[in-house]
Amino acid sequence: MNSELLRLTLAEARNKLRSKEIGAVELTESYIEAVEALRPLNAFITETPEQAMDMAKRSEARLASGEAGAMEGIPIGMKDLFCTEGILTTAASHILDGFSPAYESTVSANLWNAGAVMLGKTNLDEFAMGSSNMTSHYGAVENPWRTSATDNKKYVPGGSSGGSASIVAAHGAIAATGTDTGGSIRQPASFCGIVGMKPTYGRCSRWGVVAFASSLDQAGPLTRTVRDAAIMLGAMAGHDPKDSTSVDVPVPDYEAALGGDLRGKRIGVPKEYRIDGTPIEIENLWNEGVEWLKAAGAEIVDISLPHTKYALPAYYIVAPAEASSNLARYDGVRYGLREDGDTLQEMYENTRGAGFGEEVQRRVMIGTYVLSAGYYDAYYLKAQKVRTRIADDFRNAWEKVDAILTPTTPSAAFAQGEKMDDPIAMYLNDVLTVPASMAGLPAISVPAGLSRDGLPLGLHVIGKPFDEETVFLVGQHLEDAAQFSGQPQTLAGS
Ligand code: GLN
Repeated sequence: MNSELLRLTLAEARNKLRSKEIGAVELTESYIEAVEALRPLNAFITETPEQAMDMAKRSEARLASGEAGAMEGIPIGMKDLFCTEGILTTAASHILDGFSPAYESTVSANLWNAGAVMLGKTNLDEFAMGSSNMTSHYGAVENPWRTSATDNKKYVPGGSSGGSASIVAAHGAIAATGTDTGGSIRQPASFCGIVGMKPTYGRCSRWGVVAFASSLDQAGPLTRTVRDAAIMLGAMAGHDPKDSTSVDVPVPDYEAALGGDLRGKRIGVPKEYRIDGTPIEIENLWNEGVEWLKAAGAEIVDISLPHTKYALPAYYIVAPAEASSNLARYDGVRYGLREDGDTLQEMYENTRGAGFGEEVQRRVMIGTYVLSAGYYDAYYLKAQKVRTRIADDFRNAWEKVDAILTPTTPSAAFAQGEKMDDPIAMYLNDVLTVPASMAGLPAISVPAGLSRDGLPLGLHVIGKPFDEETVFLVGQHLEDAAQFSGQPQTLAGS
């Protein structure tokens, strides 16, 4: 494999492909070899080297005839939550065994239309429920980072888009798709030292994406640079008449928004995100981020988002409620796995009992409980009211600031197996990402430094609805100032 090709960013590869300095086929070949070499990470559920080669050949023809799309010839991973026509789609669940969709999700179709090349379907937490990628039926994903060359512990890549984050960090794909319901793009990006962008709810179509919590789920890119995320989101986004929650507003040229000035921009620092027990290194990084943006000309404004502390508990009512309803369709009749029984009821029970993992069953039970006649008002309705308050907090903040800076996660990556017997500790991973999800806001995680132990840490920028441009711009200034140049211990071609 050609390790020089594996070091290119998306923007660099795109430019070299267009100037014919490199070819789409040789680029894809190198990535197919890298994916093979990186199999110990378990980042893919399904590898698709034949499709990749086919797509690369077609890209090469389009590049030759000057018809290149925005992602022409770029090898990417596709989170295995996006339905891909004729290709196994599992959501990392046993219950979808053998499910090969007859249709293509809109976001993946948009990427293929833009010329992207599919290396395979990436691993995730089952039905995207999790923060560690430990709940996949196809086994855990490993973070390519370790604290040192002699550290033989395995770390989680975060979740749920852990396979996507791990493979991009290890240079086994130039970029990958993710979905984010409460943090599943941003938290794994932070744990793996890469960029993850969740756009505004409604920016990308959810059509053909296996549903977890429909009022929260959004697709977005995982890349190694902010510019790459801007390019890729541009190709993914857009109105889709097949998804009534996708919004019919033009998709700006995100890349053109980069390189601008921060002078005159007001950046909010919310005091409620200083959570007890946050390690000092994360506090310090946050303060450093503030200084970087100040030095770039931004005005820093202390703000208050008073309902922040209710976001996580409310999320863990709303998300399971929607999940319990969305997952009702897996009944052993229409998709995947069937475990027979003497009666129809028994067949349902056997199928769902065998097909869903522990965490998914926990969520279905919490969800049906909070939606039940006796508890609906006390839990679900209350959580919806809290959600409105959280959105109001942000609406008030936008009168004072253009974007908000926080850390992405309350810790660096933890070792595989940790927090598994304590769901609440696991849920706390998302305490800083969930509020933006509840309010439907765009947010990015940018690698900004290393923990004392040498693991990556991210900074998080939240923006106004449909103002991804400012989020990218602030993200790029953080990236420029941080000069994050660390490399994981597991790196393809090294
Ligand atoms: N970790 C959160 C959860 O388990 C968020 C997951 C996600 O964003 N898909 O629900």
